[in-house]
Amino acid sequence: MKRGDGLIIVNTGGGKGKTTAALGIALRACGYGLHGVMIQFIKGSWFYGEKKSFKRLYPNFKLITLGKGFVGIIDDKLTFSEHKKAAQEALEIAKKEVQKEENDIVILDEINYAAKGKLIKVSDIIDIIKLKRKEMDLVLTGNYANKKIIDLADTVTEMKEIKHAFSKGKLAKIGIDF
Ligand code: ATP
Ligand code: MG
Repeated sequence: MKRGDGLIIVNTGGGKGKTTAALGIALRACGYGLHGVMIQFIKGSWFYGEKKSFKRLYPNFKLITLGKGFVGIIDDKLTFSEHKKAAQEALEIAKKEVQKEENDIVILDEINYAAKGKLIKVSDIIDIIKLKRKEMDLVLTGNYANKKIIDLADTVTEMKEIKHAFSKGKLAKIGIDF
C-alpha cells in the first residue's frame, strides 16, 4: 500500500493520553492491514490491558515489553542500572525494528521519558530517526520530549492536564489507566 513518506509523531506533555493515543494509531492502522510494533521502554513489570489486546491485533501489530516499570515510583524495587539495561535492550530492538521491511509503523512508548531519565541518550533517539526506513511512521511517546526531537518531528502534541481524577484521590482505573 502506497502511503507516502513516513512521519515522526511525538506525544508528550503532563496530561493523560500519550500512550493511549499511540495505541489508537495502532488500532487504526490495523484496519488497513498495516503492520508494526510497539516497544515499551518503561512499563513492563505489572499487568496492563494492552498486553492482552495486542494478542488480538497479532500478527499485524506486536507489543515488545522490556521496561522494568516506572523509575523511582513507590513500589520501584529495581536499581537505576537495571532500568538502564532494560532501556538499552529496548533500544537495540528498536534499531532492528525500524529497519524491517514488514513494519509500516513503529511506536516507541515512553522513549522521551527514558531519555529524560538518562536511561538512554537523546542521540540514541536521533540515531533511530536516521536509521528508520523512509516510508515508516515513527511514534515517540513520553513526557519531557527533548527539543531536538521536537524539532525533528512532523507532528508534536502536548497533552496538557486540565484535571486528572488522580488528584482527587481516585486511583488508576482498569481499562482507563492500565
Ligand atoms: P495513558 O497511558 O493513559 O495514555 P500517558 O501515556 O499519557 O497515559 P504516562 O506518563 O505514561 O501517561 O502515565 C502512565 C499512567 O499514569 C497511566 O495510567 C495514566 O493514566 C496515568 N496518568 C497520566 N497522566 C496523569 C496525570 N496527569 N496524573 C495522574 N496520572 C496520570
Ligand atoms: Mg504513557
